[in-house]
Amino acid sequence: MNLILLGPPGAGKGTQAQRLQQARGLVQLSTGDMLRAAVAAGSEIGKRADAVMKRGELVSDEIVVGIIEDRIGQPDCAKGFILDGFPRTTAQAEALDAMLARKGMKLDAVIEMVVDDAQMVDRITGRYTCAKCGAGYHDTNKRPKKSGVCDVCGGTQFTRRADDKAETVKARLDAYHRQTAPLLPYYRARGVLQQVDGMAEIDQVSAQIDKLLDRLK
Ligand code: ADP
Ligand code: ADP
Ligand code: ZN
Repeated sequence: MNLILLGPPGAGKGTQAQRLQQARGLVQLSTGDMLRAAVAAGSEIGKRADAVMKRGELVSDEIVVGIIEDRIGQPDCAKGFILDGFPRTTAQAEALDAMLARKGMKLDAVIEMVVDDAQMVDRITGRYTCAKCGAGYHDTNKRPKKSGVCDVCGGTQFTRRADDKAETVKARLDAYHRQTAPLLPYYRARGVLQQVDGMAEIDQVSAQIDKLLDRLK
């Protein structure tokens, strides 16, 4: 099963993609994570993406399409993947359609996580992740069971993203509405768009996603 999770920064895409990866064995493909890895590694792509990401703007279509094309062709993706943070522009969606067609793959669903923008600032400024395994947490909404210890791997180091600051969130939400929201009618017209209430509690959002995926099977 091949899925896209669509929604503004903070909507819960990463949280639900991690869960789907564990529960259904789908591969999470997060362009944000891949770009952050490139920045950390100091690669050519990382150097080009770093300043753009810090401003909360979108990295060029050419870069992210190239990254996804490489990744989707790897054998583990044959069992199904979840795109988290890609596509983000109409040009990226068209490039994705073309590459899936070439590889004989298809999209089963595009799941829009419907949320209230005003609350995304709190979600993003409270977000942090385990430095060892990447599990996601939140200062108030999702704390580790034992304070300071990752539920998944027992790690005790956590990190916050450089762009998860109140000042940058507005630019990122603007970029979503200007450049990414047009993908909603794009996928609706193709009959694959589904919606879940992203303002529900994390477990309830997961339950809504499970219900719609079970219906697709
Ligand atoms: P995205 O990948 O869409 O930017 P995340 O999955 O990283 O969003 O979620 C942003 C923050 O909000 C994280 O700290 C996460 O723990 C928290 N979060 C995710 N889903 C919910 C939810 N349904 N209710 C409350 N907080 C949530
Ligand atoms: P969030 O879901 O919180 O917005 P991501 O981790 O998906 O964050 O993305 C972080 C940043 O990486 C974006 O603000 C953007 O600069 C860049 N980025 C990630 N995915 C894409 C994409 N598909 N196209 C362009 N830029 C991207
Ligand atoms: Zn961990």
